[in-house]
Amino acid sequence: MRSACCVRLIVLLLLVASHWLNAFAAEENTVDVLLSECAHYLNSTPESARFPLEKLHALRSTFTQIQNEKYHNFLAASFAARGMHEERVAVAESYLGEVKSPPTRARFLYHLIDGNASLGHYGKALLAMNEAVQLVPILDDAQSKIIVLQGALALSNSLHAFDDALEYAQRIYALRDDNVGSLAACMGLTDIVEINFLKGDRQTAQSLVQEAIRACDANKNQLFTLIVKTDVAIDLIDSGQYTTGIDRGLPLLREFSILSQDADYVTQLEEALARAYLKANIMDRAEYYGKRAFARAQTAKVLELQEKTSETMAAIKRAQGQLAAAVGFYEVNLALKKKVLDDQLHKNLAYQRVKFDTQDKANQMALLEQKNKTLSVERALQQGRYQNLILLMTLVLVVLAILGAWLVNTLRLKNVFRKSAQIDGLTQVSNRAHFTGCAQQLFKDAQSIVSIVLFDMDFFKKINDTYGHAAGDWVLEAVCAIAKAQLQKGDCIGRLGGEEFAICLKDSSEGHASAMAERCRAAIAEIDTQPCGFDFLITASFGVATRSRGQSASFEEILVAADKALYLAKNEGRNRVTVAKN
Ligand code: GH3
Ligand code: MG
Ligand code: MG
Repeated sequence: MRSACCVRLIVLLLLVASHWLNAFAAEENTVDVLLSECAHYLNSTPESARFPLEKLHALRSTFTQIQNEKYHNFLAASFAARGMHEERVAVAESYLGEVKSPPTRARFLYHLIDGNASLGHYGKALLAMNEAVQLVPILDDAQSKIIVLQGALALSNSLHAFDDALEYAQRIYALRDDNVGSLAACMGLTDIVEINFLKGDRQTAQSLVQEAIRACDANKNQLFTLIVKTDVAIDLIDSGQYTTGIDRGLPLLREFSILSQDADYVTQLEEALARAYLKANIMDRAEYYGKRAFARAQTAKVLELQEKTSETMAAIKRAQGQLAAAVGFYEVNLALKKKVLDDQLHKNLAYQRVKFDTQDKANQMALLEQKNKTLSVERALQQGRYQNLILLMTLVLVVLAILGAWLVNTLRLKNVFRKSAQIDGLTQVSNRAHFTGCAQQLFKDAQSIVSIVLFDMDFFKKINDTYGHAAGDWVLEAVCAIAKAQLQKGDCIGRLGGEEFAICLKDSSEGHASAMAERCRAAIAEIDTQPCGFDFLITASFGVATRSRGQSASFEEILVAADKALYLAKNEGRNRVTVAKN
């Protein structure tokens, strides 16, 4: 398996710094001049960037916010160039909180991805990667997007998550935007070729090599053209074409020495050349490149390269018959193999955990969304139910109201009917039947004293005949009103027929009853008939009968007695009260 170190440092130096490269070429401010110097160094000889950075450190209190952002970014980049990843991560972590602008944030997150990955803090690296990848849609410049995607790609490669890496590479390639010679086309294709080699899909990788080289040539990007060619040369050696591999590889080493400080590609190429020479049995060349690769790997502290170069060195020493040295390299190699395995396990765990967390978060979001949907459906149902309930209740209320109205009306009608069945329409006193019932009730209690006053209009026929029936009616109403005014609670009055009326007086002695009759008689005789349109005299004759305490006489018997008394009153000249004799 080939090691997956690749392009990450190159990208960092090219892009992170070049972002500000042209921005302040014309600046004269000391800070800006120093920052500009810094960017140039990072782009050419990154180690030297620390000199302007040291000068800038003293001027920190005068920085504007933008200068401060650039300074911290360059500082992190300079630490990266010197392999000081702890310092790099510390700078990025401490400053990230103050960074709001997405493109600058993307660059600090890149330091956290790459720096943490270099330190073996894969969990932190992956978290930074997740945040950075989420930024991509809101970044409006292709360069910032490429930085983030390239960081994610390198991390995925180092975790052997090649499918993820390929996806990021495709996204970089998609940013080419029909631009002939765009960096995105060159870098995307180079990545795609390299990832395919890494995952062992040589055919796909080889089929894209020429296209990648064309794209990088168009971008005038010699470094990436060189990387693609390096991948091809190493692949030739890996697949047993040693001579061709050596022929292709050697000129590339020279190009690297001119073009780039990137040790990792050179290490890989030299290691492959050592193996090729070993197979070709050219031992001094094999040892030369083997040692160089081993030494570079030690300096770069890239575990996989250390492991690989130590194994090659052991094989070379063994072939040379230097068994003690071979055993020494084998021992180193064994220890490194264990470390690589541990590291890989560690990476995989971190990857799975972060992936699981992300997945879990996505699941939780999906669950939450589902729950919300269910809730809203329930709410809608509830609302539906509620509306139905309201509808039902309205219906019930309407029915109840109709029923109530019907009931009230019925009761009212019943009352009207009941009353009209009991009350005389003209005079508004009880009719004969109702009066009889009422009076009989008063007679029920044998201990009570009850009196009946019976009266009949005098010569009423004559009134009718003289002044008309209407005047007669008016007289009957007026007379009844007077009689009613004399009643007390519990007494009853009724029209027995025609112009004859009866009053039943509760708890009323003979004297009380005759006095009451006398008051009525006098009041009737006093009636002013003018309102009916005629002026005439009205009189009535009264018969009074009383059932005293302890007597057992019935209502009918007392009524007959009262009638007799009335008859006497008529006979004795009318307009008088006659009391029945016991
Ligand atoms: P007396 O003094 O002897 O009682 O003479 P009277 O004319 O009052 O008695 P009579 O029985 O001869 O006449 C009663 C009259 O009352 C006859 C009838 O036309 C009249 N009458 C009965 N009911 C009504 C009524 O509702 N309205 C009117 N205007 N007249 C009525
Ligand atoms: Mg009469
Ligand atoms: Mg009469």
